[in-house]
Amino acid sequence: MEDIRGLTKAELTERIKALSEPSYRAGQIYDWLHKRHVSDFDQMTDISKKLREKLRSEFFITRLEPLEVLCSELDGTRKYILSLGDGNVIEAVLMRYHYGNSVCISSQVGCRMGCRFCASTLDGLVRSLSASEMLSEVYAIEDDIGERVSHIVIMGSGEPLDNYDEVVRFIRMISDKDGVNISQRNITLSTCGIVPRIYELAELRLQITLALSLHAATQEKRLRTMPIAKAYELSEVLEACRYYGETTGRRVTFEYAVVKDVNDSLEDAELLSDIARRLHAHVNLIPVNPVKECGFSEPEQRKLQAFREELEHRGVNVTVRREMGRDIDSACGQLRRRYIANAGMRTD
Ligand code: SAH
Repeated sequence: MEDIRGLTKAELTERIKALSEPSYRAGQIYDWLHKRHVSDFDQMTDISKKLREKLRSEFFITRLEPLEVLCSELDGTRKYILSLGDGNVIEAVLMRYHYGNSVCISSQVGCRMGCRFCASTLDGLVRSLSASEMLSEVYAIEDDIGERVSHIVIMGSGEPLDNYDEVVRFIRMISDKDGVNISQRNITLSTCGIVPRIYELAELRLQITLALSLHAATQEKRLRTMPIAKAYELSEVLEACRYYGETTGRRVTFEYAVVKDVNDSLEDAELLSDIARRLHAHVNLIPVNPVKECGFSEPEQRKLQAFREELEHRGVNVTVRREMGRDIDSACGQLRRRYIANAGMRTD
């Protein structure tokens, strides 16, 4: 059985033709799947019963079920626990901004990158998500709020470039004019820095924003928190980002989780600004979200301000990530862990 929601319109058209049906049927079915988000062939009311039966015998339709929704009273942020068909659960987050609704999606169940401050990786990788499951994260949220989503950040659990093919398929499908049609310029992919995949992605010349989780301005410091730095030196990652920017014409973003007494000194800011200026990159500072198991603390407000001012003073384009849904807490990956623990399920 094949997952029909994971087929591009061209692929679906081929399959429909192979069933000796006219190709415009593919357009109707594609609309049902990607505009109306149906989860049962019987909901496709303009498709004959006979064809619905045929479809049912060859395909299934992925659907993610919200198991829990946490809503912020402060800013309308909604955090979702969604169940996958195989019983695994993932997190996705809706953030409301003045420019539209942004959804942060997970690309894997768990993660194998091992960053020391991150809750998503504590139990390792369970499996990667299919493009269809990632689309369904967005659709489940659109259905829940009854509104369209305009921006996507691939910054939830998982390393998107460790699930390269399905993530690229997801990006192509969610930006498909015949589908949801979210502009690629409104999509950000965040990576810990898997160098060969950054080059591969650059060659596709998608118009998405690449965000690099930098978190340290020297190789030596980066090694302390990010095991991926063992595989790819900072200089190599930066060169790959420079190439991505040059090839796609898109400004790269550096994410920098500011951690008390680890990377929050003015010297760190100075080194970071050198790198950012060289690559014309935007810097997004994230006060680290403390995860109990990790033992890192947020920087003092005063220090964070000084850090930011130092970057600005040196001509760097910098923002401090506003913490969304402060009242419903939960750093990346923590919600899922808590849900699993409460449900008495094993995480390994
Ligand atoms: N694997 C990808 C995307 C997922 S994480 C990546 O590494 O970029 C999304 C962002 O949140 C990354 O920049 C990640 O380093 C950061 N992050 C993870 N845990 C965090 C925490 N406890 N506090 C602040 N940022 C965190």
